[in-house]
Amino acid sequence: MNHVVVVGASLAGVRACGGLRAEGYAGAITLIGAEPHVPYDRPPLSKKVLSGEWEPDRISLVRAEEFEMLQLQQRFGVAAAGLSTTDCEVTLADGSVIGYDGLIIATGSTTRRLAGQPDHPSVFELRTLDDSLALRARLKEGSQRVTIIGAGFIGLEVAATARKLGNDVIVLEGLHAPLIRGLGAAMGTAVTAIHADHGVSIRCGVRVLGIDPVGDALVVRIGGDVRDASSDVDGGDAIVSDVVVVGVGVSPATGWLDDSGLTLRDGIVCDDTLNAGVPQVYAAGDVARWPNPQFDGEEMRVEHWTNASEQGLIAAKNLAAVAGGGSPQPYATVPFFWSEQYDKRIQFIGRAAGDDEVRIVRGSVEDRSFLALYGKNGRFRGALGLAMPKPLMQCRKLLIERLSFEEAVQAAAGLA
Ligand SMILES: Cc1cc2nc3c(=O)[nH]c(=O)nc-3n(C[C@H](O)[C@H](O)[C@H](O)COP(=O)(O)OP(=O)(O)OC[C@H]3O[C@@H](n4cnc5c(N)ncnc54)[C@H](O)[C@@H]3O)c2cc1C
Repeated sequence: MNHVVVVGASLAGVRACGGLRAEGYAGAITLIGAEPHVPYDRPPLSKKVLSGEWEPDRISLVRAEEFEMLQLQQRFGVAAAGLSTTDCEVTLADGSVIGYDGLIIATGSTTRRLAGQPDHPSVFELRTLDDSLALRARLKEGSQRVTIIGAGFIGLEVAATARKLGNDVIVLEGLHAPLIRGLGAAMGTAVTAIHADHGVSIRCGVRVLGIDPVGDALVVRIGGDVRDASSDVDGGDAIVSDVVVVGVGVSPATGWLDDSGLTLRDGIVCDDTLNAGVPQVYAAGDVARWPNPQFDGEEMRVEHWTNASEQGLIAAKNLAAVAGGGSPQPYATVPFFWSEQYDKRIQFIGRAAGDDEVRIVRGSVEDRSFLALYGKNGRFRGALGLAMPKPLMQCRKLLIERLSFEEAVQAAAGLA
């Protein structure tokens, strides 16, 4: 193997480059990234960068001297537009073609848009550094009427940051509770009680019918069975806003692979070693879907930081192993993520599904500090901590040991 191409110059891609060098690979690496920036970290974009506490130079993923040592051929500011796995070539949007012996795809995800969403300077999405800086310029003015569409983690983090900057914030959610996909309805509602404490209303069951520019403002027209998650206030049918943030989720960035012959199904379908079905083509991060041996081969695609970081390394390790005639290792993991809203850290480890049994085993919703365990079919599957970092992290061991739900509930009583 003389030339590895890594497509996607962010967390998983950069970790893959580092992983190849750590495995002793000394050949060429070309790192292709659609964004013009050197690789940076995304979590602060909705937190400390958005609030203005940090400037962009704080969020580089790799220090300049480390980056130098990786000896990468950099192609930043140009997207990959196509892949031929027969010719082992990636075609870029500027028409250039790059051949490879090994390929790691780490193109992450891109924001979804609402149907009919207008292109308007006061309507924002949040995925990139440029998105964050543009939104921050508006939020730092304070006293803005900010409407956030989507009560997922990004929407709620933006709500917390916007509120801290002195804006009036309303969050609209289409489902009947916030954070349903991440935590289930009951815990989603419990965790987001902190927003009511800070004067942010989360209205659920809302259908956004349109966003209309009227003078300098935007009118968000809404319908549906509108409920305020905290106080059951009727939402009205139009919300006059100065700023609208659309946070309705992301999709894996696989459009450029449509004609590649790779299997795409809400992500790149990989085996348990992150191989994408073609020898020496691997995928990592938000874009990869793989059967996780830790959860009996359940297929997952995870849109969180720790997963992208780990998978970048594993994909590199497996590519290097196969190229050297060795065996790739399965990637078995207990997924983990965190979120920060106001002064609270929310952490989840494991898996959550809507029909899980959920039990609070420490603290309480009223205290705004608790540990909740999730179980399904008698098995312990996940744990949620609100301002409960130490016991939450100790749950990882219980998950790896594959305890039953009742065993985990008992064990949680003895956690430090
Ligand atoms: C605002 C924000 C806050 C977050 N906060 C948290 C948090 O608190 N906790 C947590 O666990 N996770 C958080 N995440 C999620 C976490 O950042 C992602 O899971 C992680 O960035 C995924 O890394 P990745 O490398 O797989 O993909 P990405 O970070 O999406 O990077 C993919 C890169 O590939 C590039 N690309 C895409 N298509 C092409 C192409 N065709 N050619 C070339 N380049 C391409 C993109 O421009 C991008 O730079 C947050 C994400 C965002 C956006």
